[in-house]
Amino acid sequence: MLQPPLQSLQVAAVPSQRTPAREDEAGPWHAEAVCRRDEAGLFFAPSKEPTAARLSREEAAKRVCARCPVMVECQEHALVQPEPYGVWGGLTAAERRVLLARRRRRDVELKAASTTGHVAAAG
Ligand code: SF4
Repeated sequence: MLQPPLQSLQVAAVPSQRTPAREDEAGPWHAEAVCRRDEAGLFFAPSKEPTAARLSREEAAKRVCARCPVMVECQEHALVQPEPYGVWGGLTAAERRVLLARRRRRDVELKAASTTGHVAAAG
């Protein structure tokens, strides 16, 4: 199935699955979400979606995210939750998993460096 051109996308209301569970935690960023109404179904995969269709849909979703004023907030929300499905903040679920793994590695390295620094300072 062909994706509709982006100009034809109607954007108006955040679907419940995109609305943060706790608004006070996520902040008001979702009020400015360009994808508030995902009428084209770009952001979440339908069941049994073929790979080529998924890649095309995700790229279209990312193009929407690229012009969204709250992309940074959305991306951080999706990483912190973490949101397991869909495109959030211009990242797919797989891309978020990679980014989270990098962050965890960095945190471990920083902690190790910090510990080493304490030992060196104490010694
Ligand atoms: S960055 Fe993308 S997923 Fe996030 S609110 Fe904006 S359009 Fe929606």
